[in-house]
Amino acid sequence: MKNFTIVCSECHSVNNIKSETEAFTCSKCQADLDHPFAVEVNDENCTIHIAENDIAVLVDFYSTTCGPYMAMYDDYEDAALGFGSTVRFLKINTDKYQEVARKYGVSALPTIIAFKSSKEVNRISKQLSQVELNILAQSLIA
Ligand SMILES: [Zn+2]
Repeated sequence: MKNFTIVCSECHSVNNIKSETEAFTCSKCQADLDHPFAVEVNDENCTIHIAENDIAVLVDFYSTTCGPYMAMYDDYEDAALGFGSTVRFLKINTDKYQEVARKYGVSALPTIIAFKSSKEVNRISKQLSQVELNILAQSLIA
């Protein structure tokens, strides 16, 4: 495994992983970097995850007033369970945070954008099932 950077899901600091034998915990807060849960982020944290993660990142732009998103909520959480340190699942509440959504021109909700090396590689603007989310995440793993 080559050197790579991974952003902590708890404190959002950037970790440089240099070898497979290195402890896979955050050097700052000691949280497990293999975090198989969707992470709620704000504009600032979201920007760090997109810019700094060498692992693929999914961002779910949602609104609590959006029926399709709320219907997808559990599926998104369940899909994240299969991808601890290989794909980071983020979700950002666009009722509160609009900066990142504006930057990427997100108009329809829910929208899921996939990033690799901070570049957008895929975008889907509809409710996805857990199976579809799994396929999307799997497609990001080289
Ligand atoms: Zn941390």
